[in-house]
Amino acid sequence: MEEVGTGLLDRLDAMQRVAASAPGGPLLIVAGPGTGKTRTLTHRIAYLCAELFVPPAHCLAITFTRRAAEELRHRLDGLLGAKDAEDITVSTFHSLGLSILRDNAKAAGLAPGFRIADDAERAAAREAAGTDDAAYAKLLRQQDLVDLDELVTLPLALLEDDAELVARYRDRWRWIFVDEYQDVDDAQYRLLRLLSPPNGNLCAIGDPDQAIYSFRGADVGYFLRFSQDFTDARLVRLTRNYRSSAPILAAAVQAIAPSSLVRGRRLDPARLDPEAPLVGRYHAASSADEADFVVRTIDELVGGLSHRSLDSGRVDGRHVTGQVSFSDVAVLYRTDAQAAAIVDALFRAGVPVQKRSHDRLRDRPGVGAIARELRHADGLGGSLAARVRLTAQVLAQRYAAPTLDGPALTPEDVWAASDLLMPLAQRCGDDLPAFLLQIATGAEVDALDPRAEAVTLLTLHAAKGLEFPVVFLVGCEDGLLPLRWPGTTPAEEAVAEERRLFFVGLTRAQDRLYVSHAARRFRHGSEREQSPTPFLDAIDAGLFERMGDTVPSRPRDRQLRLL
Ligand code: ATP
Ligand code: MG
Repeated sequence: MEEVGTGLLDRLDAMQRVAASAPGGPLLIVAGPGTGKTRTLTHRIAYLCAELFVPPAHCLAITFTRRAAEELRHRLDGLLGAKDAEDITVSTFHSLGLSILRDNAKAAGLAPGFRIADDAERAAAREAAGTDDAAYAKLLRQQDLVDLDELVTLPLALLEDDAELVARYRDRWRWIFVDEYQDVDDAQYRLLRLLSPPNGNLCAIGDPDQAIYSFRGADVGYFLRFSQDFTDARLVRLTRNYRSSAPILAAAVQAIAPSSLVRGRRLDPARLDPEAPLVGRYHAASSADEADFVVRTIDELVGGLSHRSLDSGRVDGRHVTGQVSFSDVAVLYRTDAQAAAIVDALFRAGVPVQKRSHDRLRDRPGVGAIARELRHADGLGGSLAARVRLTAQVLAQRYAAPTLDGPALTPEDVWAASDLLMPLAQRCGDDLPAFLLQIATGAEVDALDPRAEAVTLLTLHAAKGLEFPVVFLVGCEDGLLPLRWPGTTPAEEAVAEERRLFFVGLTRAQDRLYVSHAARRFRHGSEREQSPTPFLDAIDAGLFERMGDTVPSRPRDRQLRLL
């Protein structure tokens, strides 16, 4: 436990301190990538509890992913000590909704033992109900099942109808904090408004320029109109970036400029090492060549040249030792389809890889099977990890036998799923309901092991909020980033969101960043000529170092917007 007292905010810079120690009332913290949002948020909560004697039980911190919630919890434990931090409610929107429903099952018309429908149960209800949404919900309800989306909409409906219940929750949580507020959707926003304390102690934090979930209903408009929604809101901006070297940050700032949603956006580098390398840029002949470039460069950084040093100059006293390990490296891409060539090349070179997509955990057939089996064997004791392993063994044997319908599930699916679930099972101890909820709501990326000694492969969406010393952003091509079907023109707003995604990718890098594009790539069934993304045009050529292009100059290359 860190020392609490006057020194609590010493580890923050001046603006972070202003945000962390702001008085009560609505507070919006607008902060770009790498400016220390989590750090500020946790220090604010710790400051309120330790210095202003706010009871921890009055605090509710909401995040969007379980992984982010765990990170918050971990940091609060460090600042306040696990015992005090324990009383703070830290949850995702889903788990918050679930706990409200649990506490009020009867009022919500649910049996006490209700649970979340799995895919098979949803599909069956869908088929029986046809297009009738009200009938669909009824069918689920008859079986004491709840749809995942309903984890927010059901508590919302409950609270909208019951002022007394609202008052009870408002009395319980007098301080609410929401991270990544730019990603809030309509139902989540309405739930927040209902819960937000009358004294307006709502602190929202986020970055509109990293709003990348509109396809799933998120609406950055809620962020932009925070001060209209919550009167007398205080606004604090954090502009000092502690994450990235100066050239990386400069490239990122230039890249977002054409569609920044933040008026007068500023990001100042805290790291000013004059030796910091430029952004590497590689124009590959093909996607295979691009994959070779990634492998070659990783090999230079880690394998062959383990003595070569990264730039040093981390601002908070941590020093980059100069050694790059596989776990320092991430390869980011727009679509999962791009990963295969990279994984293959890394695999052939003997580089350990961990790849998780942002797909939902429960969409994996092996995961679905293990979860179902565990639920049926609910009465068994023992640690979850042991039960998962045992279940996988049983299932693998069952599916090893050929069936008439062919292999719906292979033993490999089952083993892969059990590996994926193991870290989660270990974290859940023997709490089966918590484990099943996380399977129902979690993304595969949540199961990533940050300590694994392997190169991490991620989609840009899944990389949000993370940081790596070395980042490759591959496939920086028109049609891929921004993503577009051949022959179609996406709406302006869709392109702006793709640019934000590009920005998210660039700003994951701490010390070294490489962007690459291929002249030819297999897409939609045929090999296509590709041009570099126009997003790169917004970046000064002087910020790039060209990495030995292999594309022979041919007449048609003049059409590509080259370097
Ligand atoms: P993103 O928008 O990408 O999620 P963020 O604003 O949440 O970024 P953090 O991940 O909290 O940023 O912080 C980025 C890095 O900067 C972390 O490594 C963090 O430890 C470091 N950092 C933040 N504030 C400070 C500070 N005052 N002094 C030193 N280092 C800091
Ligand atoms: Mg963050």
